[in-house]
Amino acid sequence: MTLRPHTPAERMVAQVLTPAGITDERTLEAMRRIPRENFLEEALRAQAYGNYALPIGQGQTLSQPLTVATMTQALALRGDEAVLEIGTGSGYQTAVLALVCRQVYSVERLLPLVLRARKNLEQLGLKNAMIRAGDGTMGWNEYAPYDAILVTAGSPTVPQTLFEQLREGGRLVIPVGPAESQELQVFHKSEGELHREALGDARFVKLVGAHGWNHR
Ligand code: SAH
Repeated sequence: MTLRPHTPAERMVAQVLTPAGITDERTLEAMRRIPRENFLEEALRAQAYGNYALPIGQGQTLSQPLTVATMTQALALRGDEAVLEIGTGSGYQTAVLALVCRQVYSVERLLPLVLRARKNLEQLGLKNAMIRAGDGTMGWNEYAPYDAILVTAGSPTVPQTLFEQLREGGRLVIPVGPAESQELQVFHKSEGELHREALGDARFVKLVGAHGWNHR
């Protein structure tokens, strides 16, 4: 019998995510399965599995693998949840979420990115993610409340609307702080109260919108 070689995604999980303390097996399995190179333009594909952020056009970035893993794990998903994502970008994080929950609702501000992300997910045959163009700082009222909410752009404060669209018992993960550096925060809504936990510092592009940063 001939052994199948490890894929680049499997190596990324074994060499970067597991040593860094990511233990949620469903998150790790999703990240082994989603081909990260599909979400990048041709010229950047050779760098797809390095642990760094990469440009996706429109001045935006695909988050580094450890950040995607940390945020996904922090949502503590079991598989039957409806998840709201703000900041679709390339759709990579959306695809990872699609493998670990029931339905993803994702909002992206920039239409060219919406169109590309939809195509990326379609190519992988992922049907349980809906992506729309709009200002995600207003959430997505139509399908609220959500079991979990993930914001993948940095915000000066937590948009109140997102707390309102979060189900009792649900978790909200969001990078909060000044434009240069944010703290990744997890809010757990329990008995009507919000409990906060910090997951360390990270640097994200700006959340631009009515309840985020002003344009420019
Ligand atoms: N998770 C993405 C990361 C994209 S970077 C990925 O895996 O590729 C963050 C994204 O948030 C950018 O695409 C940016 O355009 C978007 N964004 C910024 N402000 C937003 C807002 N108010 N509503 C929706 N999307 C927003």
